[in-house]
Amino acid sequence: MNIDASHGCPTCKKLFKTKPGLLQHVAQSHPPTTVDPVTNQERPLFKFQCSVDYCRKVFATKARLTTHESEHAAGESKSQAAPFSKPKF
Ligand SMILES: [Zn+2]
Ligand SMILES: [Zn+2]
Repeated sequence: MNIDASHGCPTCKKLFKTKPGLLQHVAQSHPPTTVDPVTNQERPLFKFQCSVDYCRKVFATKARLTTHESEHAAGESKSQAAPFSKPKF
């Protein structure tokens, strides 16, 4: 056996060769949860994930995700073309 047990997933016991591999698995398969103070039930802490491949940030509310994604859109159109170049004076 040549598997480092320190990279075992504490939730599903899956083993990983590298720590980043384990962390990526945990983030994707076992998203952080929180206990709802009203219902006392566990629920996902972050439900809304950015659809941009290189980003994948997660947000607690849809509104924050929407705001974030619009920033991506604005940034991309800016880098493609700058139709309005504001004069400084
Ligand atoms: Zn796991
Ligand atoms: Zn994003």
